[in-house]
Amino acid sequence: MRLSRYFLPVLKETPSEAQIVSHRLMLRAGMIKQASAGIYSWLPLGYKVLRNIEQIVHEEQIRAGHIPMLMPTLQSADLWRESGRYDDYGQEMLRITDRHGRDMLYGPTNEELITDIFRSHVGSYKDLPLTLYHIQWKFRDEIRPRFGVMRGREFLMKDGYNFDLTKEDALHAYNRHLVSYLRTYERMGLQAIPMRADSGPIGGDDTHEFLVLAETGESEVFYDAQITDLKFGDRAIDYDDKAQCQAVLEEFTSRYARTDETHDEAEFAKVPEERRRTARGIEVGQIFYFGTKYSDAMGATVADSEGNKVPVHMGSHGIGVSRLLGAIIEASHDDNGIIWPEGVTPFHCGIVNLKQGDAEADAACDALHASLTALGLEPLYDDRNERAGGKFATMDLIGLPWRITVGPRGLKNGVVELTSRRTGESEELPPEQAIAKVAAIYGKAVA
Ligand code: ATP
Ligand code: MG
Repeated sequence: MRLSRYFLPVLKETPSEAQIVSHRLMLRAGMIKQASAGIYSWLPLGYKVLRNIEQIVHEEQIRAGHIPMLMPTLQSADLWRESGRYDDYGQEMLRITDRHGRDMLYGPTNEELITDIFRSHVGSYKDLPLTLYHIQWKFRDEIRPRFGVMRGREFLMKDGYNFDLTKEDALHAYNRHLVSYLRTYERMGLQAIPMRADSGPIGGDDTHEFLVLAETGESEVFYDAQITDLKFGDRAIDYDDKAQCQAVLEEFTSRYARTDETHDEAEFAKVPEERRRTARGIEVGQIFYFGTKYSDAMGATVADSEGNKVPVHMGSHGIGVSRLLGAIIEASHDDNGIIWPEGVTPFHCGIVNLKQGDAEADAACDALHASLTALGLEPLYDDRNERAGGKFATMDLIGLPWRITVGPRGLKNGVVELTSRRTGESEELPPEQAIAKVAAIYGKAVA
């Protein structure tokens, strides 16, 4: 992509309405524009990162054996009356009446809709286990939308629902989600710690929230410092293997880690003092097992092997897809701007031409752009007629992890400069080697 043809409305001024760094940087980098309180347009750069995050979520859910689908944003109030939540949900629910006077709502979550789909089509234990999920916009009329996409009113969520014959099977589904979430967040360059949480209006006994530690987080958290040493990494996992998934759950949840809702001073005191930490965290996901709460209320049963109708055991599992952009930026930025982890970056690398209009520099940039593109990478080439300082500032602000700088002086010696956004370190390399290095970082083979 050539920057001269792209739409990147960066702001020079720091927007005064933004209180936290991720919100400021998303506005300054031209990623989002507020449409009304807690509702945003996703401008091209922000949309790209949003799509990348969605893609990782999809890949990891599918890897875990969960099935993608799509449910609508608007739902009928009648289903919510069946579960009893139409009244319980209160003012966070945006209620809409259609032209026929029917009560509708903009879904804040989808337990009722998915349970209705399930009961309409599934009747036998032989069809289980089943986990369906979608990535869809939600609306919650938050009393205080703030911090940009962190606490929006309209926000994108991945929500998945498992249906199982027994509690044991449903807990395996719960564990599968925990494992898949660990992988998901790590691929985004994040450490998200599963913490014991409170189930709130969704109801249920077993629930963990995933928290990214950040000073600006809205949750107060208490944990054993040892937990921050845990990494899932790229170990192999068989998602059908109950014992393997259970072992991961135990490894990642056996140390003390709780939000203020479930915090227990007496339990916390058992952690050696030097390892006790109190901090703030951003909730980027939550998993629940809630048994037969919805299947009882809505009559979602299956015939077991003896032909008896039994209610299915369910759970629901959410990832805050749009909130993740804010969380990643909170965890990864410096004074000059965003530093995208390679896994979610909107462009793989930037190309800065120090002397636009210089025939040799222009040709070298075009060649780099073409070679990187041919390798399946997406470079962003700043081909504007601007001073080098301005170009560097834009690249730093939008946070591409790698930058190739091209100028007449370097080209005389046959080199360009490859710079890491994270470390600021540069090295001079012949263009082919710079390409090979960037390709290797993103796991692309150079022919
Ligand atoms: P919170 O406690 O932050 O209000 P929640 O616990 O009510 O969130 P869940 O129902 O668990 O939210 O939703 C799943 C995920 O969706 C959350 O972990 C969070 O990452 C994200 N999410 C929830 N509410 C919002 C919001 N208003 N804006 C952006 N993301 C949100
Ligand atoms: Mg939650």
